[in-house]
Amino acid sequence: MELKLYDTLTREKRVFNPLDQDCVRMYVCGPTVYDFAHIGNARPVIVFDVLYRLLRHRYGKDHVKYVRNITDVDDKINARAAERGIAIRQLTEETYKNFKEDVAALGCLPPDVEPRATEHIDEMKTLIARLVASGNAYVEQEHVLFSVPSMTDYGRLSKRPLDEMIAGARVDVAPYKRDPMDFVLWKPSKENEPGWPSPCGIATPGRPGWHIECSAMSWKHLGETFDIHGGGIDLVFPHHENEIAQSRCAFHTGVMANFWMHNGFLQVEGEKMAKSLGNFITIRELLENWQGYAWPGEALRFNMLRTHYRQPLDWTYNSLDESHKILWDWYEKLQNVASDTQAPDSVVRALCDDLNTPQAIAELHKLHRERNYSGLLAALSVMGFSGRRQKIPRIAPAAGAASGISSAVGAGQAGVVPEMIEKLINARAVARAAKNFAESDRIRGELAKMGVVLKDTKDGTTWEIAR
Ligand code: AMP
Ligand code: ZN
Repeated sequence: MELKLYDTLTREKRVFNPLDQDCVRMYVCGPTVYDFAHIGNARPVIVFDVLYRLLRHRYGKDHVKYVRNITDVDDKINARAAERGIAIRQLTEETYKNFKEDVAALGCLPPDVEPRATEHIDEMKTLIARLVASGNAYVEQEHVLFSVPSMTDYGRLSKRPLDEMIAGARVDVAPYKRDPMDFVLWKPSKENEPGWPSPCGIATPGRPGWHIECSAMSWKHLGETFDIHGGGIDLVFPHHENEIAQSRCAFHTGVMANFWMHNGFLQVEGEKMAKSLGNFITIRELLENWQGYAWPGEALRFNMLRTHYRQPLDWTYNSLDESHKILWDWYEKLQNVASDTQAPDSVVRALCDDLNTPQAIAELHKLHRERNYSGLLAALSVMGFSGRRQKIPRIAPAAGAASGISSAVGAGQAGVVPEMIEKLINARAVARAAKNFAESDRIRGELAKMGVVLKDTKDGTTWEIAR
């Protein structure tokens, strides 16, 4: 059975053959650890976990190496640590621990290596020195910049016309750049920012740019060229484009990875779920209390896999609920079934067709209809499902109830925007679910300043304007 995967670089589904049958190598960009991950962030983790499991199924458990990094140096991290008045290391440790627990609850295996950016500064400096030596990078005002015009075929992954890339919001024009497209490999740190001795004779301590981290960590753990590189579709440009530029120019190779795979967005009402848009649900919230239920992680996993990974996925309560009910129903039949069969070919074949999980799930339904329960259990297991029932306890609605609360009371009040109040109530519910009571109290205080009084009842949180 052939394995075919869609490659973003060549824009086609191609037969996958590993560079080395003994060690299939995959790198996926991991989290920036400053806050709880949201369920949009969970999508790549789940998608690439299914691929990891499929590769292990095909090539053997000991013949796949999966690396997913941890970005633990970033301006968002510095800002959050300062805001909370804690050390950076404490924030990154705490967030990483939460992330690991959250994704384990979604049935995701830990990768073979989870390298931290801050532990690979030497490798980054080596790469930077190489790029300067080969004329692909230069030093300017204590920054080291990658020179985009030095690479003749820059831009192949995102295939954007150059002027569009320049106009792109994420390309900053800066006085130390020779070309607006050039990007930072290393930048100077102020005294209150984390810093390391700089490369290339720069006297001021500095810190790496984001893109060089992944080139360094993938090199260290997987080599100059490897099989698969993955992440969300938003990483194609500039992050992956720039990783390719750095790695190919440093190693003089034709490719960085043979396959580039990207998942589509998890959306809320047609918009990407994102921290910055405030339309997010954390994994933790879902597991502890979302819309009045503590959802089993497998319900989220199943719900994600009902849509093909390259398609956008609209988040709805009904679809999550339906996913949970399907698993609940199947798992009832599996209670006394032994796991002694091979996964049926029909399911593996669907997965081998560019991870066609909707098709694989259609095959699971078929196995269920045919009462082939041992086949169903084996197939579920390949896809990362336990096959064992998990309770879904009803919790007093908090977060969910906020969207159905009596906004009529506040709607007429001048200066009070119900949407904003509901957003704050949601944020408070998230904080409470995470047992971050300092934050939940802070939000309650903020609402009080607006004249909004909260009432936590058994049916959820309601609010009214104090008279
Ligand atoms: P970030 O922490 O924003 O760097 O994101 C971590 C990973 O989650 C990256 O692979 C992103 O592409 C991915 N990601 C972020 N938001 C979404 C979303 N709404 N849907 C799917 N993937 C996402
Ligand atoms: Zn990366």
